[in-house]
Amino acid sequence: MNSASQASAKALYARRTSGFDERVAHAVAVLQSAATDHAGRVVLATSLGAEDMVLTDLIACHDLGIDIATLETGQLHAETLALIPQIEARYGLVVEVYRPPQSSVVHFVRQHGERAMYDSIALRKACCAVRKLEPLTRLLAGREAWVSGLRRDQSSTRAVVPFRQVDGEGRVKVSPLADWSWADVWHYIELHDVPYNELHDAYMPSIGCAPCTRAIAVGEDFRAGRWWWEDEAQKECGLHVRRAEEGVAETA
Ligand code: SF4
Repeated sequence: MNSASQASAKALYARRTSGFDERVAHAVAVLQSAATDHAGRVVLATSLGAEDMVLTDLIACHDLGIDIATLETGQLHAETLALIPQIEARYGLVVEVYRPPQSSVVHFVRQHGERAMYDSIALRKACCAVRKLEPLTRLLAGREAWVSGLRRDQSSTRAVVPFRQVDGEGRVKVSPLADWSWADVWHYIELHDVPYNELHDAYMPSIGCAPCTRAIAVGEDFRAGRWWWEDEAQKECGLHVRRAEEGVAETA
């Protein structure tokens, strides 16, 4: 990555807007409530993206006792993986790492090739199922609740994300940053000097696996760099797909 392709994400996006302090206080309240209601059984499933780094900072600074866990798909950028030891050193927290079984990955690649995700939506989703969904099932096993960094303005498919809902398996999912803007996220990061993925400085607002993430151009949507060869409506990996049978228990 050369310097010409970089720009400070903080300089580009951080902005204090009306209601910021209230949104921070509300996010802390949502986290505190989850920590109290599901003591020892709640986890932040972090993608190590900007929103999840904000949540990590809030959990650590308010000593909430919410576990931190991530999915290591085997296809993440080195810059993303570098955040794991940074979190552990700065906050004194352990980041649980869940990986797909090597045998499943080898089998999938032998059958479909290294670049299967570009061949069809079905194969892309199959790759996500092997590398993300199965490890997520283990990550969530035994947990009553999980925390996500979803925000309503990330994409049209996330426009109605509630602060709290019950997923299709009866597990509570909380999204404390649901009403935060991108400017809020970066204002918080700047204000508290939160560590973040340096790829955000290379015009990658949403970062996933390396083969499925590219930089976005000026004017493109937030998630335009994820699975950019697919239609917008297909752009979820299954981690946050809200199935028809899911019931929304409450929105705060
Ligand atoms: S994001 Fe891409 S590489 Fe990662 S699991 Fe999904 S299809 Fe595979």
